[in-house]
Amino acid sequence: MKIYREGEKSKAICSHCGKVETVFEKRDVPIQGSKIFAKKILAGVCTVCDEVVSIPQQSAIYVKESLQKEKKPLEFRIPKHLEDILANASLRLVGGYSPVLVNFLIRFYIHKSFGSQKERIKLQNIYKKTDLLANVALSSRLSIKIDSKLFEEFQKLKFETNFKNDSELIKAIMLKINNDIVQENDPEMVSELKDLAIAI
Ligand SMILES: [Zn+2]
Repeated sequence: MKIYREGEKSKAICSHCGKVETVFEKRDVPIQGSKIFAKKILAGVCTVCDEVVSIPQQSAIYVKESLQKEKKPLEFRIPKHLEDILANASLRLVGGYSPVLVNFLIRFYIHKSFGSQKERIKLQNIYKKTDLLANVALSSRLSIKIDSKLFEEFQKLKFETNFKNDSELIKAIMLKINNDIVQENDPEMVSELKDLAIAI
């Protein structure tokens, strides 16, 4: 890989101006096929029209990273008592209600369940045995944003655990949080999460 320096000159084809001299500058570059920008990456800029005309190989990593960080919103309607479970898990871990921590907990459990067959089986069993989902109104709303890598894990997890849809899986995760943290059936997990929660 040839490494370019900021301010270095090169040549490229500009779609407006044809063959031109370019200069490498830090720019926010829109990524094709998405609404996001790779921020402040070194890019070849046309010296005639000032448009970005090339992206050197050394900048490709940031384009990839920006795409990965693109957040996908997940929206669910959930029963009120599942919302209460999340709030009380937060209370158990940090002594108060932290929406940021609640969001983290869901992301943490998606990743943890994805990575462990044991956890996946527990997730299925808890969902099968619960009486917390019978005849309930879905009067609350849960909104979380996850990056594309975790979104992929979420979809694979759903497939591997045979949950019918995103909503079933997210409810199972909340029931698992209830089991582990609120009902304190997994003291090791509680203590691991207490440590992590301080840093959030
Ligand atoms: Zn140009």
